[in-house]
Amino acid sequence: MSDNLAKDLSVKESTKVNLLGLSQQQLGTLLEELGEKPYRAQQVMKWIHHRYLDNFQEMTDISKKLRDKFDEMAEIREPEVVKELISKDGTRKWLMRSESGSLIETVFIPEDGRGTLCVSSQVGCVLDCSFCSTGKQGFNSNLTASEIIGQVRIVRRILADVYPDRKRAVTNVVLMGMGEPMLNFDNMIAAVSLMMDDLGYGISKRKVTISTAGVVPGINKLIETTDASLAISLHAPNDELRNTLVPINKKYPIAVLLEACTRYAVNLGDKRTITVEYTLMHKINDQPEHAAELSTLLKNFPCKINLIPFNPFEGSGYKRPSSVAVTAFRDRLHRAGFNVTVRTTRGEDINAACGQLVGKVEDKTRRQEKYRLIASGAN
Ligand code: SAH
Repeated sequence: MSDNLAKDLSVKESTKVNLLGLSQQQLGTLLEELGEKPYRAQQVMKWIHHRYLDNFQEMTDISKKLRDKFDEMAEIREPEVVKELISKDGTRKWLMRSESGSLIETVFIPEDGRGTLCVSSQVGCVLDCSFCSTGKQGFNSNLTASEIIGQVRIVRRILADVYPDRKRAVTNVVLMGMGEPMLNFDNMIAAVSLMMDDLGYGISKRKVTISTAGVVPGINKLIETTDASLAISLHAPNDELRNTLVPINKKYPIAVLLEACTRYAVNLGDKRTITVEYTLMHKINDQPEHAAELSTLLKNFPCKINLIPFNPFEGSGYKRPSSVAVTAFRDRLHRAGFNVTVRTTRGEDINAACGQLVGKVEDKTRRQEKYRLIASGAN
């Protein structure tokens, strides 16, 4: 995003500024450039994020002049919802089209007393973790801030319609959908700040979680940028094994990763912890010796551990451990004094589980269709 949004517009006349992804400060700057008082940003944000308005003319507490100006140069545009799937267990999944034409997925997981929205930050992923289907699909594009926050806005609005009593609502957001949030840093941070801003979605910093496979420079930048919660996808207790599962480990090994995370947690203070995600794969990283090694590794690390039984997909080459093995692994960590939970697999009937998000498959089909049209001169 340029510092001078209005100037930017005169260069790219055809491009409207999408106000959806602008932080309070960015919107204030834009308003100043338009000769308005920056505090008007607060009014506009309430219309956008609290009342889900897309039409500037309905923003009755701002001047007609500004409404007309916005009509000319701005828009409020969400990703287009292509499909909504509802699981037997109440999990909901949406397939949405990003500006690049690719499909992304967003998953809502209702639990007792809370509702977690799993948001995508990129289409595809470059990191190529060996057990993740998104990684297998390669990298396609970054999502804009509007597209990331748009996922929250869409789901909030839909749930408010379906459950006016707020029986189900988005109380937590995790950036654990498709993509590596740290590799789309500026857009991700803009969206995260809107999630936590009271004029945006007002979700507490403890309930917005950025998950990374271990992009350490991103964690270092996070320290200066936000106080949201942090999760790391560890999946192995030593570098040798982790190198095979999470290739970015060769660049930023476990010791370097944990050191950056400790600094982040200490900097936040307030007894904040890091969530350690550990996907359990049969005979790969689920043995008693792995639990023992993990306990030693994380002994002084301020964390809670979240075990994820592997979700199979075709051709992955990995298996999910038995529930007995999962429980045994959990109990070992428990006995070593860790706060540990097992992530129950949700939305299996709609392919909504971790690592099973499949947007790209349909995207490929769509792109092929586009190329066909171009080749035949029809476009
Ligand atoms: N790139 C970020 C965000 C993705 S989060 C990250 O790696 O943290 C998705 C989480 O689900 C990660 O912990 C990922 O390692 C895990 N995961 C991916 N594929 C999985 C699968 N097939 N089964 C279980 N967990 C999986």
